[in-house]
Amino acid sequence: MEVRAKKYLGQHFLKDEHIAQQIAESLTGSTPHVLEIGPGMGVLTKYLQANPALDFHAIEIDTESVAYLHDHYPSLHVIEGDFLKLDLRELFSEPFAVIGNFPYNISSQILFKVYENRNSIPEVVGMFQKEVAERVAAKPGSKTYGILSVLLSAFYDIEYLFTVHEHVFNPPPKVKSAVIRLQRNHVSALPCDEALFAKVVKIGFNQRRKTLRNALKQLNMDISAVPDGLLSQRAEQLTVADFVTITNSVKEIPTNQ
Ligand code: SAH
Repeated sequence: MEVRAKKYLGQHFLKDEHIAQQIAESLTGSTPHVLEIGPGMGVLTKYLQANPALDFHAIEIDTESVAYLHDHYPSLHVIEGDFLKLDLRELFSEPFAVIGNFPYNISSQILFKVYENRNSIPEVVGMFQKEVAERVAAKPGSKTYGILSVLLSAFYDIEYLFTVHEHVFNPPPKVKSAVIRLQRNHVSALPCDEALFAKVVKIGFNQRRKTLRNALKQLNMDISAVPDGLLSQRAEQLTVADFVTITNSVKEIPTNQ
């Protein structure tokens, strides 16, 4: 019995074995510990769990898919649950790679969770809807460059690997898909307050048409020490290093004046 696709779970099952294999082979082997998000009927899983060198786990939210996986891959360790609620430290004591043809409705949340757990996740290979993949892989100066591009590229080298046509899925999604790979770089910490960095990036892009000078008013901090050359630009033009400079230049406004 096949699993009937459930739209609300973002289920689009990949039909093309060759693409499934290509995705599984895109992991570089930086760590033997691997977590697949949303295995569904196991089209990727098959290639991953066939590799005895991997310590392989999967998390799937859909009861019917989990039952299917138990039937077809009895030795597979599949957790029934929501990746977004999963306590990653409980599952792995060692760094682990994340892979999946991800549920597109929670792509950004998956990526924010990767960002938060960046020191335990050396590598991500994932299929996203094409626009999301492009946004994550975008470089400064491009229209698609956004919050996730800056936050993730501060800690990961990001590659756009290949585009995938909608007809290789059942049911076909409305949009094209693409596979990207993130590999952790050597930056262990940014030379600034990282929480404030994330806040500056978010505020900058929330009003992406405004110059930083205007967008940063929402930050409610003293921006007089931020170089003019940065304040006169828009968030989409700035590099990670520029955002670090801004973060280090803003100051609390004293309240007891
Ligand atoms: N990897 C399979 C299925 C992709 S569809 C394939 O390529 O064919 C996305 C899968 O993610 C579905 O099986 C869906 O049930 C699962 N999923 C959706 N939300 C999830 C969540 N929050 N946590 C874990 N799995 C989830």
